[in-house]
Amino acid sequence: KRAIDAASEISVKSALFENATAAEIPDYIGLDPYLAGGGYKTLARVRAGDLNAVDIADHALEAGLRGLGGAGFPTGTKWKIVHDLPGPKYLTINGDEGEPGTFKDRFHLERDPHRLLDGALIAAHAIGADRIYLYMRDEYPAVLEILKREIAALRQAGIVTTIDIELRRGAGAYICGEESAMIESIEGKRGLPRHRPPFIAQVGLFGRPTLNHNVETLFWIRDILEKKPEWFASQGRRGHKGFRSFSVSGRVKKPGVKLAPAGITMTELLEEFCGGMEDGHTFKAYLPGGASGGILPARLADEPLDFGTLDKHGCFIGSHAIVVFSDQDDMRGVALNLMRFFAHESCGQCTPCRSGTEKMVGLLQDGDWDRERIADLDAVMRSASICGLGQAAANPVASVLKFFPKEFGK
Ligand code: SF4
Repeated sequence: KRAIDAASEISVKSALFENATAAEIPDYIGLDPYLAGGGYKTLARVRAGDLNAVDIADHALEAGLRGLGGAGFPTGTKWKIVHDLPGPKYLTINGDEGEPGTFKDRFHLERDPHRLLDGALIAAHAIGADRIYLYMRDEYPAVLEILKREIAALRQAGIVTTIDIELRRGAGAYICGEESAMIESIEGKRGLPRHRPPFIAQVGLFGRPTLNHNVETLFWIRDILEKKPEWFASQGRRGHKGFRSFSVSGRVKKPGVKLAPAGITMTELLEEFCGGMEDGHTFKAYLPGGASGGILPARLADEPLDFGTLDKHGCFIGSHAIVVFSDQDDMRGVALNLMRFFAHESCGQCTPCRSGTEKMVGLLQDGDWDRERIADLDAVMRSASICGLGQAAANPVASVLKFFPKEFGK
């Protein structure tokens, strides 16, 4: 529980500030230095027709760029789908970043916000979007202030022209990080996930085709177009492509955002980027993908960390939020804490999740875990919930039952 709490400490601290004052705004690259470094030049080429939508989508596919909010869907494929549909259409950017342990988007936006805005304007032009909606986590007051300032600067400089950027503040609901719930929220409704199909690429914001991206996905567009797809693709290890921004917290010497190769292992990440374990702690387990990606034991720390590589263990990498646990952490407590989080954040729209997460908390609070009843409930939630929250909520519990059987007492 301590490690999970530590992972969300930054957000809690941020939430204490209602408005970021100048003193709280970190140093970041503003418009002038960004332009001096060649920023928005590729956008000008795209607007001049030097690079068309298919070229850009092909570059993204060749680079291996995938949705870095957690889904990992190939970026170029999504662009082609939305490009081919009739307008009006929209680009939405998901900056809600509510997955426990995830703080990479904040890290990038507090340092280099124009890299996102550049990528967004390129994407919007390429697919023929009419407007960009940037949905930002309200617990990041400094980021909101930076974006407000820099979008105004872009308008003044004539770089934002016909396709405007509208900044929207989230209201603290975890579920609004789910793309269709985010769209409902932008439309001014309660953030309830939609049934699919239709997918939002076809019927999205205001019923129109919508390209939705996580902040970090768009962050890489400029570099991929300027430095070429091979540059990005070659950054990975073991045949995986690109960089990943890992948010690392828990019992490590140097927590923080680590820009590391896709396909790196937990052992390598710990030793090469995090300075090893905290003194007096022995590595025991880790969350590979925030609250919903399951829990892996230290003996599986040599698996490549990327989309699809952890499925065989019932886990996934999601938004690359790594929380490290030691021999001083109780894995039952971790699973119970995470399940309480899901019960609290369930939007309540469907019974398997609304009622299932509450019942699961009740079962876990009992002295002895009833493996059969937990597995039964897990199966119902997984197969009958509308969205990923309910479908994956029991992942940490399933992991503890599988990898730490001694800790649940049967
Ligand atoms: Fe809401 Fe949970 Fe159903 Fe998702 S699975 S729609 S969060 S009740």
